[in-house]
Amino acid sequence: MMVSDFNEYDVSFRCFAGCEGRHSIFEVIYTCPKCGGLLEVHHELEPLKRNNAYQWQKLFDSRASTSAWPFGSGVWGLREWVLPNVADENIVSMFEGNTNLFWADRLGKQLGVPDLWIKLCGNSHTGSFKDLGMTALVSVVKQIMSQGSTVKAVACASTGDTSAALAAYAAYAGIPAIIFLPAGKVSTAQLIQPVANGAHVLALDTDFDGCMEIVQEVTQDQSIYLANSMNSLRIEGQKTVAIEIVRQFDWEVPDWIIIPVGNLGNISALHKGFQMMIDLGLIRKMPHLVAAQAASADPFFRSFQKSFKEKVSVSAQETLANAIRIGNPVSYPKAVKAIEATGGLVEQATESELANAAAHADLTGMFTCPHTGVALAVLKKLVDRGVIGPRDRTVVISTAHGLKFSDFKVGYHEGTLSGVKSTHKNPPVYVDANAKKVKEVIRERLGL
Ligand SMILES: *Cc1c(COP(=O)(O)O)cnc(C)c1O
Ligand SMILES: [Zn+2]
Repeated sequence: MMVSDFNEYDVSFRCFAGCEGRHSIFEVIYTCPKCGGLLEVHHELEPLKRNNAYQWQKLFDSRASTSAWPFGSGVWGLREWVLPNVADENIVSMFEGNTNLFWADRLGKQLGVPDLWIKLCGNSHTGSFKDLGMTALVSVVKQIMSQGSTVKAVACASTGDTSAALAAYAAYAGIPAIIFLPAGKVSTAQLIQPVANGAHVLALDTDFDGCMEIVQEVTQDQSIYLANSMNSLRIEGQKTVAIEIVRQFDWEVPDWIIIPVGNLGNISALHKGFQMMIDLGLIRKMPHLVAAQAASADPFFRSFQKSFKEKVSVSAQETLANAIRIGNPVSYPKAVKAIEATGGLVEQATESELANAAAHADLTGMFTCPHTGVALAVLKKLVDRGVIGPRDRTVVISTAHGLKFSDFKVGYHEGTLSGVKSTHKNPPVYVDANAKKVKEVIRERLGL
């Protein structure tokens, strides 16, 4: 039987490290009151098991193509598994998710991994996969505020995409948003998005980790709600990517998933999504999760090299992949579990490697953001090293839309990016408006 009373489900915040106690998801709380560690949204499995695996699959399949509120959203189409007890009228959704997963035929063959797929999460309202988590978090905030709470605004520190998503969803709901950005370290599009959405944009003379410290202090008094991924509500929305990928493969699990990582919330979210499908019998195996880091900001890679014996923090250096320029990743313990439980690994890519990997992919029809470039560069390394085999089904998560990073593209093709040797440069040819001259150029380039 399909269950339809969403209050039958039981979700609560619990300490990720295992301290006792549970808290309502509508409580203003971000960390465990006992140990100060991360919380996670716990789903009681018993009520969910009233549907069998096949029934869940059918239900999710049936909602994927609908416009029925709120199930047409890729996040709220999985409502029972995400945040079932948010009331209909408080759901803040612009029908995010349900992004295309496509076969990267030519690129895969060129790299030696023909069963390569790109999950184009950047094809989303604000141009990055951060929309998935934000619909979940802002919906909870709306419900909290509707119950007459002290919360009057939402805030986040951001490397660019989180703030764009928060500003858009907050504006959609009519909730004031305060954005803390590292001045001069985000792209033009990333800066102008929250400005356009009417957020209070504070550009601080520090890096992301510095902004993070300040937002945590500012959000201590319960009038401003913290929207960073330390807040595990966002993980619930982001985890739908895992379920969506498997649904798009007719409920089959790929061998590898590669994702660019910074604060480590999203790789944790993928793992949580897969674990839930295993717990409820929809799938039987885990994919190997690969975390891809920029070499300029690689604390997780360094921890991995030390077999995760200790958390490494670094001062994150400049990178074209600005959304993952993070030196002290908040979701570290969850990400360690994601790598260890899936037989995954962590790899990194230099500026040249990420830029050329992105440009290579573009030559096969994509328009790749620099973070996706990091994942593709890591893919190439793992295939060349024989870790990913020629028959392995591999998914690369493309996390943002390339159009948000046109400065990166222009610089690449002009050959002006510092530290990058553009091996696939393709600048425009400036020709006189003269048919003879134009024909000469075409003959030169194409032999026609
Ligand atoms: C946020 C983000 C990431 C990394 O996600 P984390 O949860 O911070 O690890 C990767 N790519 C893009 C484009 C992002 O905005
Ligand atoms: Zn605890």
